[in-house]
Amino acid sequence: FHTVRLILGDQLNAEHTWYQQVDPKVLYLIAELHQENTYVTHHVQKICAFFSAMAQFASELGAAGHQVRYLTLDDTQDFADLNALLQYYVAETGAIKFEYQRPDEYRLLAQLSQLKLANAVVNCVDTEHFLFPFDEIDREFPQGQHRLMEHFYRRMRKRFNILMTDVKPVGGQWNFDVNNRQKLKSQDIKSLPTPLMFGHNVQDILARLQRHGINTMGKADTHLLWPINRAQSLELLQYFCEYCLPAFGRFQDAMTQQHPAQWSLYHSRLSFSLNAKLISPLEVINAVIEHYHANPFIEIAQVEGFVRQILGWREYVRGIYWANMPKYASINALEATRKLPDYFWHGKTRMNCLHHALSQSLDFAYAHHIQRLMVIGNFCLLTEIAPDEVDKWYLGVYVDAIEWVEMPNTRGMALFADGGIVGTKPYAASGSYINKMSDYCGSCHYKIKERSGESACPLNSLYWRFMDKHRAQLTHNPRIAMLYRTWDNTEKSVKQAILATAEQHLAQLERL
Ligand code: FAD
Ligand code: SF4
Repeated sequence: FHTVRLILGDQLNAEHTWYQQVDPKVLYLIAELHQENTYVTHHVQKICAFFSAMAQFASELGAAGHQVRYLTLDDTQDFADLNALLQYYVAETGAIKFEYQRPDEYRLLAQLSQLKLANAVVNCVDTEHFLFPFDEIDREFPQGQHRLMEHFYRRMRKRFNILMTDVKPVGGQWNFDVNNRQKLKSQDIKSLPTPLMFGHNVQDILARLQRHGINTMGKADTHLLWPINRAQSLELLQYFCEYCLPAFGRFQDAMTQQHPAQWSLYHSRLSFSLNAKLISPLEVINAVIEHYHANPFIEIAQVEGFVRQILGWREYVRGIYWANMPKYASINALEATRKLPDYFWHGKTRMNCLHHALSQSLDFAYAHHIQRLMVIGNFCLLTEIAPDEVDKWYLGVYVDAIEWVEMPNTRGMALFADGGIVGTKPYAASGSYINKMSDYCGSCHYKIKERSGESACPLNSLYWRFMDKHRAQLTHNPRIAMLYRTWDNTEKSVKQAILATAEQHLAQLERL
């Protein structure tokens, strides 16, 4: 072989320029790596999804005439790490050129830039996946500074001419969130769509993980529900357009414990397909907009809300990540130091909201944004869990978790550990937010209306303790100043009881 090209597990982009020509002198290498399965403990379904998708990609490339070598954990076990493996295979094939696509994770980019090959030149190319060019990130996202997502998103809408009529946004508004964010009523719950699940047999992978002693978390399933190739990803996209898009924005923030079979509500569950690059952000956006044009009953509010997640948030967090790494991985602005309670690994807590969000994450390697942000993330924020602990858990548990997208969402958006780079204020909330958006509180062990005492919703006291403790840092934010007036007008004895309750909870986090 003249050239060896590495394909990482999240670089399964069949549309990449690399594959436009078949060259028998080019060998594609796809490898199940020990280092990738042990840098953090992953959900077992996440590993199965990546390994299955990698193997499928390899066989599709082979069927198209490319030369491919797929290495399993059995083949790679004797190599110390990725670079050692590459040194061996590039030498073994006699290649004079080694190429890789720029990894989206800082850790892997740093590792590959250290690669030294005796007889081959090394070349790095773009993944051709994201809309926002990598080399413009530094200009758009100044290091350590806040950049408003909404402004970035509007620039992206204009730049890529998405949902625009000339220079104006379709529908006359950039953002339709005021029309969205409703709670699910019982009649809405009856019509929730059942998630489309696939069922690929992963028994071999499970056996391989066991054979190699790879530690995992979450519920294993011999039949994987996640899409593992481009065809299935496109099927899921089509399913989303037909059954979920019409109500996507309206119920985007809602949560329910009724009908657990409809666990992903109106969400797309396309994040794994997108992050593994089986499908591109632009084709998802285009498919959704085409479906909107073909179906006049779908409102712009639903479509705009979805496009914003992909064209706005997804591209934005990638920018924040690259502009601020590697420092971002260690910032802890609120100096949080607690350990994650054990129920993060089994879901058994008396807090009904947390129980549902954790159990669903462990059962399906998935939770929707508000479960991640306002239930699990909010709990970790208010209880001051160390960001390293929280990051590790999020990076492991979700099928779509890759550091570039996980970290700004967790450390930045959920924990405010970046001191305001992603958001200008923490997304801290008491139990009343959860009560507003879900049906969890009615059957909870704790009482949502109480703020102090053993039976009170723990989030109520923890919230006020958090706000009280961080007053100096937060009080300047006009959106928060009003809350402090409510707190100041509360009777001293009531405040003391609330703060004492919060301290009791913090002292006994494992028992909540
Ligand atoms: P939908 O609700 O259907 O949204 C469509 C798509 O928009 C998603 O597939 C995703 O690609 C994109 N998107 C939506 N919100 C965001 C966001 N905040 N950041 C980036 N992309 C977004 N997303 C990941 O892909 N990987 C992660 O590891 C991850 N970790 C998160 C951790 C926390 C604490 C929080 C609050 C959010 C995290 N997110 C992460 C963002 C978001 O929650 C998931 O992308 C979404 O829940 C995936 O489900 P879905 O495909 O059904 O999304
Ligand atoms: Fe969660 Fe509090 Fe509601 Fe219980 S009462 S479900 S702990 S918000």
